Amino acid sequence: MANPSLLILAGDGIGPEVMAEVKKIISWYGDKRGLAFDVSEDLVGGAAYDVHGVPLADATMARAQEVDAVLLGAVGGPKYDVLDFSVKPERGLLRLRKEMDLYANLRPAQCFDALADFSSLKKDVVAGLDIMIVRELTSGVYFGTPRGITTQPDGSRVGINTQVYTTEEIRRVARSAFELARRRGNKVCSMEKANVMESGILWREEVQWVHDNEYPDVELSHMYADNGAMQLVRRPKQFDVIVTDNLFGDVLSDCAAMLTGSLGMLPSASLGAPMANGRPKAMYEPVHGSAPDIAGQGKANPIACILSFAMALRYSFDQGDEATRLEKAIEKVLADGVRTADLMGPEGGKPVSTTEMGDKIIEALNASL
Ligand code: NAD
Repeated sequence: MANPSLLILAGDGIGPEVMAEVKKIISWYGDKRGLAFDVSEDLVGGAAYDVHGVPLADATMARAQEVDAVLLGAVGGPKYDVLDFSVKPERGLLRLRKEMDLYANLRPAQCFDALADFSSLKKDVVAGLDIMIVRELTSGVYFGTPRGITTQPDGSRVGINTQVYTTEEIRRVARSAFELARRRGNKVCSMEKANVMESGILWREEVQWVHDNEYPDVELSHMYADNGAMQLVRRPKQFDVIVTDNLFGDVLSDCAAMLTGSLGMLPSASLGAPMANGRPKAMYEPVHGSAPDIAGQGKANPIACILSFAMALRYSFDQGDEATRLEKAIEKVLADGVRTADLMGPEGGKPVSTTEMGDKIIEALNASL
């Protein structure tokens, strides 16, 4: 059987720096675990604009549609801030999400014990935290029409956005959440505002329908999204998988992310419909951006990007045990006190570079054999 294929789009700023460490890990799996990938690389964001005049070339888009998974670094930077909106680096990312129809955005919030002090919440509230937020990514109020700003006859202005969801849009993301829950704690909490929004009533009814008809074995609860925000800060460990719409998911996933400390630690996955080989369309990327303030200095924390590859192992390649091996290697390195600059506590110490962090993780992987 052919090796699974990966397209690496490292992007801008710290993207190529953190991706260089992921490439070491990918090679390690080929050499030591017999898990070889066919890896191709291409440009995205400002790097693609510099060469092609667009943030994502058509040939790159076509390749992304063919591969088993895309690994993306980060896009953007001050150099490109002056560009027209249509060719800004972020448009490359949006094109990938849209054309691959990646409707389920997975954002884990996992607290490594060694970093529990980094959270703004008390240690016992977050230690051992492991929740997954599934955000609907391709519909809802960010895409609904009518939208726009109009001027009234009296000169005052009106801004309009429209929340629209269809049965199928809700059902498919609900299925993603239930599938995930079965591989984890078997619990889904669906969040909306059914008390004040018709689209919220539909959301609740359709998630319930998918549960009753297809996933009755998974525990399902419903919560209003504002209460959800409170509960995430009050007692986050009550959750396993949370499924919610695009707007609430945007806010709630950032809130949950901060429970765990640094932006340099947060991976994500965006999944679409299954392809002919049964694997979902998929793109994996760290939550952080291109961090122009530290780019080129060897200071970036590569763990978010490496954890994104761990998600690829688990969700695209059915290698849950190997994903766990990688996560445990990271946990071990952190427990040993190895820290990039963003993870330095008030006690200080000497931070390691991006490359050194990657090397330490490889050492821990070797020790796991
Ligand atoms: P950012 O995530 O790039 O950086 C925010 C802060 O976190 C910075 O101080 C940065 O140094 C730090 N940081 C981020 N990742 C880190 C890591 N791995 N290790 C250590 N420190 C890290 O967000 P920003 O500064 O608002 O945006 C910078 C650029 O990135 C902008 O052009 C923005 O549009 C773009 N951006 C891209 C993405 C993406 O590619 N998905 C996401 C967010 C922002």
